[in-house]
Amino acid sequence: MAEPQIVLWTEGERGPRIPLEAQGIAAAGGAVRSVGCRNDAERIAAARDARVIVVSAATITDALYAGAPRLVGIVRTGVGLDTVDIPAATKHGVCVAHVPDFCRDEVADNAWALILTVIRKILVADRHVRSGQWSPSVAMPIHSLRGQTLGIVGFGRIGRQTAERGRGFGVRILAADPYVDAAVMESKGVQKVSLDDLLARADIVSLHTPLTDETRALIGASAFARMKPGAILINTSRGGVVDQGALVEALRSGRLGGAGLDVQSPEPPAKDSPLWQMDNVVLTPHSSATTIEALAALAAKVNRQVIQLLRGEWPTYLANPEVREGLGARLLVGREATR
Ligand code: NAD
Repeated sequence: MAEPQIVLWTEGERGPRIPLEAQGIAAAGGAVRSVGCRNDAERIAAARDARVIVVSAATITDALYAGAPRLVGIVRTGVGLDTVDIPAATKHGVCVAHVPDFCRDEVADNAWALILTVIRKILVADRHVRSGQWSPSVAMPIHSLRGQTLGIVGFGRIGRQTAERGRGFGVRILAADPYVDAAVMESKGVQKVSLDDLLARADIVSLHTPLTDETRALIGASAFARMKPGAILINTSRGGVVDQGALVEALRSGRLGGAGLDVQSPEPPAKDSPLWQMDNVVLTPHSSATTIEALAALAAKVNRQVIQLLRGEWPTYLANPEVREGLGARLLVGREATR
């Protein structure tokens, strides 16, 4: 009998946050193996014989592809691919798959939960009531939401859902995204502006870009200096899009009126981070995507793509389609070998 093809999970005993379907994987000739790797070196060693690697937060490097000659694909259990070296994957002929339509609604919902919690100072009011007091003015000054301006940075799937929800609240919506046409934005009632213009005009700035070389620390000291005094920042994208030191400074100085942060750099924030003490900051543990329904949909798409790779088929959501064009895709080599 042929050796099973290893489907590897390397991020600890907890296992993936979505179940890998051992039965379906076995029917496609695979076997799931879970190894708790503490660093890249351990992951590279564990990956030596893997056919497919399922990955959440771990980094996947050139050295890993080079040391794993049987590897045909990486499947990331989410949208963002900032932890996976895609050009190196393509160079080695490895497919990178992800789930790009995962949790679009859920992240937009959490962005709005954070906006409302910060603007309405819900945590301040909650703590006040729990301490046995009852003053309707405890959290003043609070400004009405209707008529405020929401600036969306990154008008992709999640940015668009965030905009759609904004219409119900009566906010004016601007978006900065160099890769989306003004006509697309206008068809959704959104005005296309430059990032500079957005920062100067928005009362609420909500970040929805991927983390790339272009967006790393996009919101730093000079961006905060250009924002409206008292504006709020919402980040449900990636912690690295914001310069954390500059963020703390902007909150301390009062330049920024508040922040709602689902993502940090690092995660969780350092124990001595001043963010813990700030009343005008709302923190969630990178949990925007985490609902029963979103995780079930994610699990189905991850498992489907693992099985496709085991069968020598292209995964549904191939993030490096260039790998199909060259002759070097390991998936094709594998397909020839099994014929
Ligand atoms: P998407 O690819 O549909 O949209 C991203 C948008 O950002 C694109 O329209 C792109 O043109 C734009 N963009 C790229 N560079 C930009 C720049 N320099 N300035 C402005 N816009 C720029 O992705 P999505 O599904 O909307 O997800 C966005 C990001 O949200 C993901 O990359 C991921 O990092 C993050 N995310 C977070 C969670 C969470 O749990 N907090 C869950 C899912 C996704």
